[in-house]
Amino acid sequence: MAHFTFHGGIDLREHKERTKDLLIEEILPGKQLVFPMQHHENALVIPGEYVLAGQLLARSDDESMSRIHSSVSGVVKAIEKRMTIFGELCPCIIIENDEKYKEMDFGDFVEADDLENRQILARIMSAGVVDTASNGEPAYYKLDVKEPNKIRHIIINCAECEPYLTSKYRCAVERPEWIVEGLRILLKMFPNAKGILAIENEQQEAITSLQKILADSRNMKIIPMKRKYPQDAERMLIYACTGKKINSSKTAEDARCIVLNSDTVYAICNAVTFGKPMYKRLLTVSGDCVENPKNMEVSIGTILSELVAATGEMTDNPDKILCGGPMTGTLLKNLEVPVTKEMTAVLCLKDDYKRPEHTPMCIGCGYCVDVCNEQLLPTRLAKYALEGNMEKFVKFGGMECCECGSCSYICPSRRGLTQIIRMMKNQIKSGTEE
Ligand code: SF4
Ligand code: SF4
Repeated sequence: MAHFTFHGGIDLREHKERTKDLLIEEILPGKQLVFPMQHHENALVIPGEYVLAGQLLARSDDESMSRIHSSVSGVVKAIEKRMTIFGELCPCIIIENDEKYKEMDFGDFVEADDLENRQILARIMSAGVVDTASNGEPAYYKLDVKEPNKIRHIIINCAECEPYLTSKYRCAVERPEWIVEGLRILLKMFPNAKGILAIENEQQEAITSLQKILADSRNMKIIPMKRKYPQDAERMLIYACTGKKINSSKTAEDARCIVLNSDTVYAICNAVTFGKPMYKRLLTVSGDCVENPKNMEVSIGTILSELVAATGEMTDNPDKILCGGPMTGTLLKNLEVPVTKEMTAVLCLKDDYKRPEHTPMCIGCGYCVDVCNEQLLPTRLAKYALEGNMEKFVKFGGMECCECGSCSYICPSRRGLTQIIRMMKNQIKSGTEE
């Protein structure tokens, strides 16, 4: 069986053995759910109002923000500032859960074949489906391309190469029909495209499950890729599956591709055929401080501490709590923040990889260069960043860095290369935006 991959990358310790064979469990939320309205200026409910699961709570005039729906039935308790995973206070809609889980009437089952492409897009937009691979960008944004007939590949990212994370894998094992049906819906919108389910070659059980549903489909196939980090980054996937290279100034559309996560197409299937908004999420709660790690299906807005409590007592005090994987996740100050649509995991970890406070010396081993999937010179970029030399930083491709973290991870001197490069990139971007 051929394996597809990309230049560079690293072989990370997976830490998936504790959850990879565990069935997805539904975890019910507690008494209060919190829905942040980061840029949603239009709250559509008021305190005291009764809402149903699936009811629209807020929308924004900015189309890059997805709609927010309630994930439970209950009463709007307040609209007030609460903490989010980014460590900032933000206006939030607070729902008091009545624990009846009464849903809206989502209408009759719909065959995607009976819908026009515009109607499919409208259903995806109304359902507030976000692409979990793109920092919560609405999925319809990626699908609303200028020339649909030019798209040649719809790549569904079933890979999950960050350590500990297994909920996407479990989704492919347990619910492959939704992923394949979601892809079939998308292929209807892009008549000249072929569907690719890109998955790591070692995820054999998921490959077998997907294969059974695909049967002898002529326009969909599975591509088994080498297990390597960051195999699930968009540019790496496009290269591994099509051989096309794009840089940071180009989009997947320029390579005639659309790339979406498998959990996004799962939500698309739900939205288009059942009219169901995206108000649940699959994620993994794990880490070396978690007693009984789990793959969970949870309601958006649930407080993270309730999810961790569902895994039993912590075995140790974590040094760090992450939302997402250890390579690219967000460091949390505490667990009293709500689940969002793009969340993939909650990890409670001992820190076995503390970085020194000051940037240590480079010993010139070159490991960071070997692993850089963008074929950059991370040590040189860090030097230019520390010197504040923007011109050289840009000339040597600093803006191409995808912030995968591989160079920092591999560096024997434990230099925080990614962090230094990221800071310079942000500085340059904010200068360009002004
Ligand atoms: S973080 Fe940037 S520089 Fe470092 S390996 Fe990844 S792409 Fe290369
Ligand atoms: S891996 Fe670290 S020590 Fe080695 S060349 Fe890169 S920055 Fe220097």
